[in-house]
Amino acid sequence: MATGMIHHFEINVSNLQRSIAFWGWLLKELGYESFQEWESGKSWKLGETYLVFVQTDVKFIEPGYHRRRTGLNHIAFHGRSREQVNQLTERLMSKNVPILYKDKHPYAGGEHHYAVFFEDPDRIKVEIVAPINNSYA
Ligand SMILES: [Zn+2]
Repeated sequence: MATGMIHHFEINVSNLQRSIAFWGWLLKELGYESFQEWESGKSWKLGETYLVFVQTDVKFIEPGYHRRRTGLNHIAFHGRSREQVNQLTERLMSKNVPILYKDKHPYAGGEHHYAVFFEDPDRIKVEIVAPINNSYA
């Protein structure tokens, strides 16, 4: 049924509480629900997919994450509508979350790609994309 779809992602984070505050808010906005929680990690689930955030062990904290190095560059989520993309953008700005490519927003991904790009607390790039044939909803 879900063969081949993403089962889960697990991401190590430099400061679990900070990441929980950020991702907990964002993922709830996107329809995820709290799934698992333990001393060094927490997850949220939507449908058949869950995302896990785990505290990085002290000995692996350095050199930290950088999206230009080898490895994950960014994560993109389907948004509900352009309106939701706009609302999330406003909320992110009010939380002082860095919005990327502001000069091209919301078309930084191209003229037919309505999206907001921003950074998580470890500077992982996150993208929320509105449906392609979406008028204002
Ligand atoms: Zn993308």
